[in-house]
Amino acid sequence: MTPVPEITLNDGARIPQLGFGVYKVAPDETAAAVRTALDVGYRHLDTAAMYHNEAGVGRGIREAGVDRADVFVTSKLDNGFHEPDAARRAFDDTLAAIGSDYVDLYLIHWPLPTRYGGDFVSTWRTLEEFAADGRARSIGVSNFHVPHLQRLAVETDTVPAVNQVEAHPYFTNASVRDYCKQNGIAFQAWSPLGRGTLLDDPVVQRVAAAAGRSPAQVVLRWHLQRGDVIFPKSVSRSRIAQNFAVFDFELGADDMAAIDGLDRGAAGRVGSNPDTFDVITR
Ligand code: NAD
Repeated sequence: MTPVPEITLNDGARIPQLGFGVYKVAPDETAAAVRTALDVGYRHLDTAAMYHNEAGVGRGIREAGVDRADVFVTSKLDNGFHEPDAARRAFDDTLAAIGSDYVDLYLIHWPLPTRYGGDFVSTWRTLEEFAADGRARSIGVSNFHVPHLQRLAVETDTVPAVNQVEAHPYFTNASVRDYCKQNGIAFQAWSPLGRGTLLDDPVVQRVAAAAGRSPAQVVLRWHLQRGDVIFPKSVSRSRIAQNFAVFDFELGADDMAAIDGLDRGAAGRVGSNPDTFDVITR
């Protein structure tokens, strides 16, 4: 089995560069999807309280018979729980749902600059507690824009280990990515396939045909060669396996540049804008 490269985070922890995401995987299908991913070889799982499938992730690991210590598990704080006491309770619930006494990485899911009086700093300080007591091996953020990251840099002591934001060839999120690269924050690209929209793109299809690979494989390979962390989602075994088979070929500079050229800026987003996203469901 091809080993997945690891990235060293700013706290010294190591994360597999390719993982398996479970957004929109139904709670009762999650354990099976996770078992399949672990069987294929993935050792990095990305879930969130908001996905309602943390329990399935934990069950899938146990049912697969893989040591918990060999799997990198990320979860995220849901939007309704940013106040410190609520965040502490939510983190306890996440650990209980997964059935583990720690997560490898815990993130603030959204900055919610229009909620909680714009205070995501006290939320971040609460995550620092989870890192200090060892129950979150690493802590980071998700959907943070540059001003949000700058504010944490000024007001707190811990630089997030990662920032998980939307990024793919149609929306490279370049200014956020540049900030992360310059400040030692690992860049995690969510919706790496643009939720599938990139797979019909003529440039992607041309590069794929020339490489003898699928469109999904060349887009994932583009991310990996840029050095970013990704976790594509699928529930089909063949696609889960296909998305993992991306370490035995390389895109040349021309192909990388052709895919770089697909960037549409903010018009290329497939998800919400973190400056305005404010949904609280519970
Ligand atoms: P994605 O870009 O991974 O695309 C998933 C879609 O592509 C699905 O419809 C799937 O069926 C299809 N697909 C996957 N592999 C394929 C293949 N080989 N061939 C053809 N189609 C294929 O989108 P996503 O699920 O939104 O993002 C991936 C992960 O990122 C999520 O599961 C989640 O873990 C994370 N995420 C995080 C946030 C956040 O706010 N932090 C937001 C969205 C997603």
